[in-house]
Amino acid sequence: MKTLVIGGGMAGLTYAVVACKNGYDVTVAERNSRVGKKLAMTGNGKCNIGNDNVTAACYNRSKLVKRVLEAVPVDEYKRFLNSCGIFTYSDCEGRVYPLSDSASNVVDCLRYQLSKFGGKLLTDALVTCVAKIRGGYEVVINGQKVYFDKVVVACGSRSQAAPTFLEQLVPSTALTPTVPSLVPVKVRDPDGTLNGLRVRAKVTLSDHDIVLGSQQGEVLFRDYGLSGICILNLSAIIARRNVLRKNGDYRFEMDVVPDLDEWILEEILYKRMLAGEREKAFYGILHNKLAAHILRRIGGSSSTMEAAHLAKHLTFDFDRLLDWSMSQATAGGIDEGYLSDSLKLSNGVIALGEALNVDGICGGYNLYFAAASALFVFTPDEREIAFSLS
Ligand SMILES: Cc1cc2nc3c(=O)[nH]c(=O)nc-3n(C[C@H](O)[C@H](O)[C@H](O)COP(=O)(O)OP(=O)(O)OC[C@H]3O[C@@H](n4cnc5c(N)ncnc54)[C@H](O)[C@@H]3O)c2cc1C
Repeated sequence: MKTLVIGGGMAGLTYAVVACKNGYDVTVAERNSRVGKKLAMTGNGKCNIGNDNVTAACYNRSKLVKRVLEAVPVDEYKRFLNSCGIFTYSDCEGRVYPLSDSASNVVDCLRYQLSKFGGKLLTDALVTCVAKIRGGYEVVINGQKVYFDKVVVACGSRSQAAPTFLEQLVPSTALTPTVPSLVPVKVRDPDGTLNGLRVRAKVTLSDHDIVLGSQQGEVLFRDYGLSGICILNLSAIIARRNVLRKNGDYRFEMDVVPDLDEWILEEILYKRMLAGEREKAFYGILHNKLAAHILRRIGGSSSTMEAAHLAKHLTFDFDRLLDWSMSQATAGGIDEGYLSDSLKLSNGVIALGEALNVDGICGGYNLYFAAASALFVFTPDEREIAFSLS
């Protein structure tokens, strides 16, 4: 059976490797000059390839995620990685990385498996159309019509990449709007003096005082606003609301001294300010730049109570999400309501990975889902065959 996989990312390569090992005649069409361009950028080049603590709650509400995770638990996924020569370790928070600590090495392993088991790779091959014809598909690759018996769409999304032609590759009725997710945010009145500063904080996102979510971890201040894992994860909430065309008056509230109670902080500040040391009030507690920011915001005559309160409730009003070029994931895509149990669209095309309306938070969940969705469409016997060959 002549099978075309559109897209040589984590989802497409995983599908292609398992299919080849089961004797399918597989061609991967990748528009870039090499496969795995995005995969090679992941985890700051280290590739956070999965997470031991994965649950459906780490993704947007999706019954599909639950089914995929049940069918392809972490151990099953690691068996696949091992069979491709990718061995892993987990950090103390359950984030899984390749032993090589190298995302490009992961790409090499997958590409090697593909060629070893007879998969064909077409690079610089842009697919612009898939049409169902009797008995198969007519696919346009670089303007040429080619025929395949089976088509798998694993074209990912626009995050840090060009548009995918998803609308031409699958019936447009199956698509929900796509918006950038896991993306830094622009805030109103950003303070450029904080640019580049990283702080540990507890951050709450609210809309008109209704709390939408909270995260604890690193915040990175930028001259335009906020970034860092906490903010990226909270941006996913806004992105999912954008998909539903829900607007909001969003505000980020940070506790930048999460390890001290407000009254203890106030007591410390009170003693220091009483001694006439206003400028040094946050010494040993906050980075000087952030301390200066807080003192500026409360103004010269304000009380220690206000200073302590602001450090525990530092607010930034949301302006907008940054664009695709800064995003790590996509909210929206092919909706699960248009997919059969085996991830097939009404025209029989299989859809995988980030092209689907599934997005996870930071921590290895997105690569996991991309690969797991590909493993999911094979029978347990087919997976066993693939895992036994390396
Ligand atoms: C900077 C960055 C860092 C990230 N870090 C992590 C991380 O550490 N851990 C994690 O879990 N997730 C991470 N992600 C998210 C993760 O990379 C994606 O979720 C994952 O790569 C999706 O895999 P995919 O195969 O579905 O899509 P993609 O990786 O996007 O692959 C799709 C492929 O299809 C090709 N393509 C698209 N359209 C066409 C077409 N019409 N014809 C031919 N080819 C086409 C594309 O060129 C691409 O190579 C990161 C994302 C970014 C941008």
